[in-house]
Amino acid sequence: MERTGSANAYLTGFGNNKRIVFFDTLLDKLNTDEVIAVLAHEIGHFKHKHIQKRIVLLATMTLGGLALLGWLMQQDWFYNGLGINTPSTYIALLLFALVLPVFTFFVQPIIAWISRKYEFEADDFAAEQSNPLMLIQALVKLYRESASSLTQDPLYSACYETHPQAPVRVAYLSRKLSTS
Ligand SMILES: [Zn+2]
Repeated sequence: MERTGSANAYLTGFGNNKRIVFFDTLLDKLNTDEVIAVLAHEIGHFKHKHIQKRIVLLATMTLGGLALLGWLMQQDWFYNGLGINTPSTYIALLLFALVLPVFTFFVQPIIAWISRKYEFEADDFAAEQSNPLMLIQALVKLYRESASSLTQDPLYSACYETHPQAPVRVAYLSRKLSTS
């Protein structure tokens, strides 16, 4: 649920190895109802198969990157444009390492956007299965720990943050309060 800071909870593992990890610092800070809400959020990640989806996504992007490399290796302009006259596999790999940041520059915002979508799905689940107000309380406590995420530039946040900003998430959950 929370990426930085000392208080944390997350879902990890596969098959019989699945577990939800709660840091003891988190258990110290939250009351029982808030812990239940955070637990419901993590179970939401599990119910929506977010770990599996993330791995499929990363594997797809890796394959996409390799396909791109395979294609670039056969293009003369790829070498010429970067000042190389005699193409070779190892030069291609070096050049690819150089241009890779351009590729990830465009991919990163997509990954960040999908991650934030997952957080809302997990919040949805938590709001249905537990008290949304308790999740809001827990979020505010946790985000207060890492104060930086409270005042993030919206564009930077849209491109790189894997978690929605705290006020956005609280506003989202608040709407569920009034309808439940
Ligand atoms: Zn989460």
